[in-house]
Amino acid sequence: MGKSSKDKRDIYYRLAKEEGWRARSAFKLLHLDEEFKFLNKSVERVVDLCAAPGSWSQVLTRTLRGPTGQENPNVKIVAVDLQAMAPLPGVIQIQGDITKVSTAESIVDHFKGEPADLVVCDGAPDVTGLHDIDEYIQAQLLLAALNITTHVLKKGGTFIAKIFRGKDVSLLFSQLKMFFKEVTCAKPRSSRNSSIEAFMVCQEYNPPEGFKPSMANPLLNHDYDDYSNQLVGANRCILPFLACGDLSGFDSDRTYPLQLEDGKEYVYHSPTQPPIDPPYKEACKLKADNKLAKESKS
Ligand code: SAM
Repeated sequence: MGKSSKDKRDIYYRLAKEEGWRARSAFKLLHLDEEFKFLNKSVERVVDLCAAPGSWSQVLTRTLRGPTGQENPNVKIVAVDLQAMAPLPGVIQIQGDITKVSTAESIVDHFKGEPADLVVCDGAPDVTGLHDIDEYIQAQLLLAALNITTHVLKKGGTFIAKIFRGKDVSLLFSQLKMFFKEVTCAKPRSSRNSSIEAFMVCQEYNPPEGFKPSMANPLLNHDYDDYSNQLVGANRCILPFLACGDLSGFDSDRTYPLQLEDGKEYVYHSPTQPPIDPPYKEACKLKADNKLAKESKS
């Protein structure tokens, strides 16, 4: 496969490199913001859960802290991921698993007395291809994110999280509806139609009266079974579904020619931030060593 073939197949991958984003996911957050306008001047404290390689953190810094990430130093952004992430100016990083209490606690420590205005979570497990399992793990990740959110988000704040829109999402919708006045399921233009991914946009945090966030009961143990997913009547939430991003913009499922503008030469761009510790690192080193050994023999 040539260097340009992925550029041709995936327009947002190519645009991400041209515009300096670490991942095409940047466009998903930008498209969601076009619709919901949550990245506004009133936002000063943000948590970016499952943030690596960091394109959402880039969007957050560029829109809230300014183009270099230093213009508005009052804005605090805390980014968390299992994986190491290359540094970004103005972003505090925590490496850890968001389903672990220790990670949750170190995030909460950054917002003691100063709650966050916005929590975003683009977390995705390594997909197994078994849809039920993938959907279940994704839901657990979202519940871990929601648990952290209940500890750090200010009343009236916004929570945005990725879901896999499978057959068993009713319970999840109901849980989110308990904590937020407005909950919408949104599909940005840059998220492929062929993917079951969508984003829950939860606005106006308003926990039930008397609710006390607790690490001892981090929402993780709820049975996510057939029974609770067949909620009926008033217990069943049907949420609005919104397609967002400019609908006349690029279609993420289409293949586009490399030459988009008349007369302009196509230029290949390397990824903005190559993975810093990829699982294939050892294989690359072996390959390079073998090449060197062969060259020194000849
Ligand atoms: N929003 C990111 C960006 O724009 O660059 C992309 C996020 S990527 C789609 C999903 C991330 O979720 C991966 O980096 C993965 O390491 C992270 N992740 C998955 N499970 C996690 C967990 N339990 N705790 C923390 N991060 C997790």
